[in-house]
Amino acid sequence: MTQARATIKSVEPFQVAWSPEDPPGSRSAFVRVTTTDGVVGYGEASPMQGGLHSLGIIERDIAPGLVGADAFDQAVLHDRFFHRNIKLGPEGAVTGALAAIDIALWDIKGKVLGLSIAKMLGGAWRSDVAFYSSIGGNANRSVDEVLKVVDGRFQREKPSAIKIRRDGDRSRLDMDIAGDIAKARAVRKLVGEDFPLAFDANNGYTVGGAIRVGRALEELGYAWFEEPVQHYDVRNMGEVAQRLDITVSAAEQTYTLQALVDIINAGVRMVQPDIVKMGGITGLMQCAAICYAHGVELVPHQTQPTIGHIANLHVLGAIMHLTKPAEYADGSGRMDAAFPDLPKPQNGRFAIPDGPGLGIAINDGELRRKSV
Ligand code: CA
Repeated sequence: MTQARATIKSVEPFQVAWSPEDPPGSRSAFVRVTTTDGVVGYGEASPMQGGLHSLGIIERDIAPGLVGADAFDQAVLHDRFFHRNIKLGPEGAVTGALAAIDIALWDIKGKVLGLSIAKMLGGAWRSDVAFYSSIGGNANRSVDEVLKVVDGRFQREKPSAIKIRRDGDRSRLDMDIAGDIAKARAVRKLVGEDFPLAFDANNGYTVGGAIRVGRALEELGYAWFEEPVQHYDVRNMGEVAQRLDITVSAAEQTYTLQALVDIINAGVRMVQPDIVKMGGITGLMQCAAICYAHGVELVPHQTQPTIGHIANLHVLGAIMHLTKPAEYADGSGRMDAAFPDLPKPQNGRFAIPDGPGLGIAINDGELRRKSV
């Protein structure tokens, strides 16, 4: 008996605009990989600036070398193309491109073998995952506007937790500490004393500013405080994490395993690598091993509501010590025509699909119609 094989025939990166007026930043960056047997796998890259940089790297620097390769060699292919393109800068566009390919190859593997991705990762600890509503854009809202937006999402999505994000101008620090604390306090009052809340600074503070806000969040019973200082100030991120009692999280802007270890060594005890930004499924499972070995919470960042979200759910199913809910940032439903059976939020949770590969139906015709 010979081994299963899935020879790659074509690799097609493409950008999707969900509506004609979509600005490039709210488009999706996908890849379609087809085997010689006609099996199709889908992956997603980080959509920063529309994901065009990652899609270009796939088109020019990865796809030609992938044709003829075996999808079952996904880890070898990942490391090969990472090192081949390393001088483009191994942080960001390259790792986003590799993440998209990795997810697509896992999707193919599952479809060939008749196994879900979670099953191929060694099995799932759970059949569903709690989620939190991730609510951005609050730096420029008044307290009342924040409450209106948060209440709307709270009522509509019925999440297990809520994270409010500042999303301020990254070139200016400590702009409105008193205002930020007032918003955090108002949201606490809105949802009640026991409801789990998190606060994302989006890198908006100095160390001193972060300590002030962090102390207030401790008083207000917030569960975690995300990216308080600039992500590239790794030592400062560790200092804030060590000085505060509230759990400080970081590493959504971390793109290599080595950088993840650096941030853990600096003192951060909850990390948030993102499946469409670094490593895909293969990379996130490596992150899981590192976190387990260091006793650090792995709580992946993930804002894309379709392929990235589903790939992330499979990995979350496979993590033993899953301590926090999954991120859910876009419940708009604007992608439903292309993804007709995407799991919907139910009682604060998402079911992990149990079909082969990603386990979701994808309307390829709809994706082609909306390709830019
Ligand atoms: Ca964040």
